[in-house]
Amino acid sequence: MIQQASRGLTQPDVVVIGGGPSGATTATLVAKQGHSVLLLEREHFPRYHIGESLIPETFWVLERLGMLEKLRGSRFVNKHSVQFVSEHGRLSEPFYFADHKPHESARTWQVLRQDFDMMMLENARDHGVEVQEGVRVLDVLFDAGRAVGVRAADETGAVREIRCRVVVDAAGQSCMIQDRLGLREWDPVLKKAAIWTYWKGALRDSGRDEGATMVMQTQGKQGWFWYIPLHDDVASVGVVAPYDYLFRGRDTKDIEKLYFEEVGRCPGVQPRIAGAERNGPFRVAKEYSYRSRQVAGDGWVLVGDAFGFLDPLYSSGVLLALKSGACAADAISEGLSKGDTSAAQLGKWGPEFIAGMDRMRRLVCEFYDGLNFGQFVRKHSDRKGLITDVLIGDLFKEDIDTLWPLMDELKAEQSVAVS
Ligand SMILES: Cc1cc2nc3c(=O)[nH]c(=O)nc-3n(C[C@H](O)[C@H](O)[C@H](O)COP(=O)(O)OP(=O)(O)OC[C@H]3O[C@@H](n4cnc5c(N)ncnc54)[C@H](O)[C@@H]3O)c2cc1C
Repeated sequence: MIQQASRGLTQPDVVVIGGGPSGATTATLVAKQGHSVLLLEREHFPRYHIGESLIPETFWVLERLGMLEKLRGSRFVNKHSVQFVSEHGRLSEPFYFADHKPHESARTWQVLRQDFDMMMLENARDHGVEVQEGVRVLDVLFDAGRAVGVRAADETGAVREIRCRVVVDAAGQSCMIQDRLGLREWDPVLKKAAIWTYWKGALRDSGRDEGATMVMQTQGKQGWFWYIPLHDDVASVGVVAPYDYLFRGRDTKDIEKLYFEEVGRCPGVQPRIAGAERNGPFRVAKEYSYRSRQVAGDGWVLVGDAFGFLDPLYSSGVLLALKSGACAADAISEGLSKGDTSAAQLGKWGPEFIAGMDRMRRLVCEFYDGLNFGQFVRKHSDRKGLITDVLIGDLFKEDIDTLWPLMDELKAEQSVAVS
């Protein structure tokens, strides 16, 4: 039986689908600007989620959200740098964020997502968002091409329709609107998968290196491991590699065996987990990158993974979730105030955001293409800062694009030298 919206807000200005970082951000910032917001989340928090390493530019959105005090007071490990380890186990110099931008934002966090996401959702409630957990959105309602609300079911099976002026799809990889409207474009290159687990007592560095994210290549450079040190002496350690390489044509489908086969190919990770005890199940994700052809339509807007997912090499997912959430919130609030919830108004932030995401994607592809970053920085030392900008997530500026012709030039020189 379909009921009209019953509990709570009957006709909010905005309905947000999903309470992950992108949904919580959008909801909080729209509510802060005086509009009524209903957020529907199918799970009950805390719930498990991957995506534990933040990057420095999250600082500015977290500041707007009023989250910084909560994070400073949390038990999350401080992250000051990222470090790369070659297929032979050779360590790069760490990229210390503060060397590039000496500001508090240069210190960020390695978070347990169940705790971080819960803090974000509680923060949304504190700012006046009505959050309903255990409510699954079944469909987005359209009228003459315009989104006008959602149909949602609670855990008793009761279904209701909720009308609103703007629907925000923040449902992560469920991508409700993108799939319904056939907007998804798969990345032609970034077709990866990941297997990961957690280790207690893994080897970790000390001092300001304790919280460093390590990116460790496997022999033959087919894949790489992340090593993310979390609190309580637990580390998240996972391998990312092309889906076909990881799962097709192998003797086994056992993910534990596949994980250890890759450990056997990674001299960087072996000593780190040698004396450690496993502290969680093995998990797996198919992580093909994709994005939607549109960020918004009349009455709807996409944020976070519901807009696009990018390979996790440089830990950019939460930043992109926060940034798109903040941009969408401003466009929605302005649109509601002036009575314009058209695609053009709700999606006005899209081109600049997509250009930033493209810059991150380009640096990801350069890594997989085997660009020698050490050689690049030695040859173009004046551009090291721009590479660090991408690594910290300061993506939304055009001067970064001066890197690409120089990288193409170096790759051409390298291929001439090889042939
Ligand atoms: C292997 C891997 C490693 C990663 N590592 C990192 C990392 O180190 N750092 C980083 O920043 N990012 C990382 N990411 C990316 C990161 O996980 C995501 O980009 C981020 O979680 C996106 O946030 P979101 O709010 O858009 O979506 P989510 O966090 O997925 O939140 C979506 C929410 O919507 C809810 N939902 C879904 N459907 C419905 C529905 N029908 N009705 C109601 N609610 C619904 C879900 O329950 C969920 O809570 C990684 C991703 C992968 C796959």
